[in-house]
Amino acid sequence: MSDYIVRATAADNQIRAFAITSRDLVEKARQIHNTSPVATAALGRTLSAGAMMGSMMKGEQDLLTLQIRGDGPLGGITVTADSKAQVKGYVNEPAVLIPANAKGKLDVSGAIGRGMLQVIRDLGMKEPYAGQTELQTGEIAEDLTYYFATSEQIPSSVGLGVLLNRDNTVRQAGGFIIQLMPYTEEKVIDALEKRLAAMSSVTELLDRGLSPEGILEDLLGEFGLTVNDTVPAAFSCSCSRERVEKAIISIGSKEIRDMIRDGKPIEVKCHFCNEAYTFTIEDLKEILNKAKR
Ligand code: ZN
Repeated sequence: MSDYIVRATAADNQIRAFAITSRDLVEKARQIHNTSPVATAALGRTLSAGAMMGSMMKGEQDLLTLQIRGDGPLGGITVTADSKAQVKGYVNEPAVLIPANAKGKLDVSGAIGRGMLQVIRDLGMKEPYAGQTELQTGEIAEDLTYYFATSEQIPSSVGLGVLLNRDNTVRQAGGFIIQLMPYTEEKVIDALEKRLAAMSSVTELLDRGLSPEGILEDLLGEFGLTVNDTVPAAFSCSCSRERVEKAIISIGSKEIRDMIRDGKPIEVKCHFCNEAYTFTIEDLKEILNKAKR
C-alpha cells in the first residue's frame, strides 16, 4: 500500500477532516537525508502535515512551505508541498542524536527547542501569504494546532506520528487534521473534544491496521462521516539542471566570473533531495554568456 490522503467532511459539513498514511514518503526522506531517529520523526511529522496542507490548496501551481526554526540541536525543518500532495523537505542537522524523553519516546521537542513556525502559501499572487507563530511544544502537531487557531482563526486538531522499526527504518507514519467551520454547534465541539481526548496515537491506529479512512471513521464516525476523495501523496523533488542553472545565473555575472577564475568545477547540491549537479568551467562559461543576455 502506498501513501495517500483522505479528504472528508462530517456533521453536515461543520467539520472538515484530512488523514494521511505516509510511511513510504517518510522512509524515502530518511534514506535521502540519512536522518537519525529523532530527525526522521521530526521531518516525517512535518512532511505528513505539509502533504495534507498542500492538498487543501486549489491551484495547480500553488505551493505551501512549512518552516520551523528552533534553538535546539536539529536547527530547523523546511518542507514544501504542492496541491497534489507532492512533498519534499529537509532538516538542518540530520545526524542529531539526543536521549529519549521522559516517556521513553523520541524527543522531537528537545531536538527542535524553542523557536518559530512559519507557514507560507504561494498562490500565484504578487505576494505569498505568510503566517508565523511561536512554537508551543516543538512536537509539531500542537504547534500547527496553535498556528491554525491564532494565525488563521480556524479551530483545529492536528495529530502526527512516526513510528520506527528496530533498525530505524520507518514502520508507520501518518496524521490527521480536523477543522471546525465557524458555524459548528457547541454540542458537536464538546463531543469531538471528548472523542479526541480518548483516542489512541495515530501510529498506534496505523499499526493496528487502520487505514486513513479507518482513522477518520474512528474519530468522526459518530458525527456522520462523508469521505469526499483520496489523493496519492509522495516525496518528490522538482529540481533539474536547468533550474540550478537559472539559480546560478541569478547570482550575477561577477560571481560567475569569479568561479571561472577559480578554475575548478563547482558542485551544487539540492537541499531537498540531495541530488548533486556538477558544472565544469566550460559549463560556467556558457552560463556566463546566458547571464549577459
Ligand atoms: Zn531536488
